[in-house]
Amino acid sequence: MLFSKVVTTLKYDATLCINCGMCLAVCPQGCFSDGGRVVRLLAPDRCMECGACQKNCPSDAIQVESGTGCAEVMIRAALRGNKDMTAEACT
Ligand code: SF4
Ligand code: SF4
Repeated sequence: MLFSKVVTTLKYDATLCINCGMCLAVCPQGCFSDGGRVVRLLAPDRCMECGACQKNCPSDAIQVESGTGCAEVMIRAALRGNKDMTAEACT
C-alpha cells in the first residue's frame, strides 16, 4: 500500500439517489454496494477521492473533493494492468 487514508471528503446523499448504478460500476475501490431502492455507501474509508463517482452520478447525490487519491488509484490500476481505469475517470 502506498498510503492509507482514514478521513475522506466523500459525501453521499441517499435521498437524491435514483439507483442508476453508475457509482457501483465506476468506483475502483468498491465503496458502494447495492442497497435495494438506493445504493448504500458501504466503505467510505476505502475512498481514494478519485472523483469518478461524482463525475458519473446523474443526480448529484455524491460530493467528493478530488485529490491525490486519484493518482494513487491510477498507479494501482496500472500495476494491476487495468487498462480501463484511465485519467478520464478522474475529475
Ligand atoms: S471518489 Fe473514487 S474511490 Fe471514492 S467513492 Fe468515488 S469512485 Fe470510489
Ligand atoms: S451514481 Fe448517483 S444516482 Fe446513480 S446509483 Fe450512484 S449515487 Fe445513486
